[in-house]
Amino acid sequence: MIKDKLLKIKKGELSAADNVRNFLRVIKAENPEINAILNVNENALRDAEEVDRSIKRKKAGKLAGLAVAVKANISALDMQVSCASQTLENYYGTFDADVIRRIKAEGGVIIGMANMDEFACGSSGESSAFGATDNPAAPGRIPGGSSSGSAAAVAAGMCDLALGADTGGSIRNPASHCGIAGVKPSYGRVSRFGLVDLSMSLEQIGPLSSDVFGSALLMEVICGRSNYDATTFEHPVPSYTASLAKRSTNLKIGLSSDFEKLCADKRIYEKVKAAASAFASQNNSKILNANLKYIHLAIQTYYPLVYVEFFSSTRKFDGRKYGKKIEDACGEEVLRRILGGKEISRAEHAGKYYRKALAVRKLIERDFDAAFKKVDVLVSPVTPMLPHKIGGHISDPKIMYAYDAFTIPANLAGICAGVVGCGRIDGIPVGLQVMAPAFKEELLLRVMKAFEGTNV
Ligand code: GLN
Repeated sequence: MIKDKLLKIKKGELSAADNVRNFLRVIKAENPEINAILNVNENALRDAEEVDRSIKRKKAGKLAGLAVAVKANISALDMQVSCASQTLENYYGTFDADVIRRIKAEGGVIIGMANMDEFACGSSGESSAFGATDNPAAPGRIPGGSSSGSAAAVAAGMCDLALGADTGGSIRNPASHCGIAGVKPSYGRVSRFGLVDLSMSLEQIGPLSSDVFGSALLMEVICGRSNYDATTFEHPVPSYTASLAKRSTNLKIGLSSDFEKLCADKRIYEKVKAAASAFASQNNSKILNANLKYIHLAIQTYYPLVYVEFFSSTRKFDGRKYGKKIEDACGEEVLRRILGGKEISRAEHAGKYYRKALAVRKLIERDFDAAFKKVDVLVSPVTPMLPHKIGGHISDPKIMYAYDAFTIPANLAGICAGVVGCGRIDGIPVGLQVMAPAFKEELLLRVMKAFEGTNV
């Protein structure tokens, strides 16, 4: 447990250097099979020793010596920020992203850059130019994506915590498949400065961890306004870890029958429903039906927006300043989105797809507003199906896109959402998603914590 480890380091019972050394050993032994880490930080030990010195001076930060793996689309000084693409395979970060700066300032040690779907386009980790990642919790199956390496690194014990980024489910989907916790913060809660984003109006950086405490801790460090990202808000960042101790009683939990319809594997819905009932009875709370009538349009709404925003954000990869020209070096899914985004952006289509998607996005946002007038949080499955076998050759992109039916709505609405394990089906981990109104991360994490202790 992260909390105990942190205490041990702060008390001097475990040095940051030994902590990092242990992880480097696991990476060396397991990574050739799992392929979660693309590049190890060569200076990780030196950085850990530095943290040990500051601990001795009684200047231990909140992360004092914990090892953090970073999704390869977040800039870290002198690390390879490849976005798991040949386009940027030789590109090294020239500065620390806001989140990295904050992690280092609190004594976190960057252990390495994590594998991912190329440019975050995918739900399985299979579109990485550097090979798929295995799922340590269900070997032979995909770990989910696009933050595939971040989740797998946590699940395989290669780091204490990891950073992912979530545009439509990329933190929550792999957290669910790997049986760990993860949070997509509200839009504007975490600075995106230094993130090579897939879609600027939807994406947020967030934590992945083996327990809810770890996610709360990392959230405490990375959240908050930044001068470098105008979309961040001046909103207080409470001590999320401290508030985990508060109980979550007398809550109204929303569950929607619309979720059942969207669930291809009904066993997943049943599991989530059972967990919600157990939560309600153990925490003196009620389950209410929430009506989210446009949620079935989430995927169709999301993709035109992502295609257009991705097309726009990739124009800088023209082969002059950063790596190779993206169209010459990228894989199939990235190319599909670039060409699709280009087509949708053409003047003669103006308004037909992008603006229509924006209009439906508004409807979904209103759906959530109305639901949160009735309930405190919503609970749903994370993915409608279990993770497929690696190399299962999902050739129809629509099937791959369907993985995100439950996660995309939170990005469209800008609310916060997190995942916590809720048992296994056929030996494969199944997660449960909690969604809370924008900027109510404190409530979100508290409810996640309570679910962590719910036995079904
Ligand atoms: N799977 C979704 C997509 O391919 C989400 C990706 C993400 O959240 N980065 O767009």
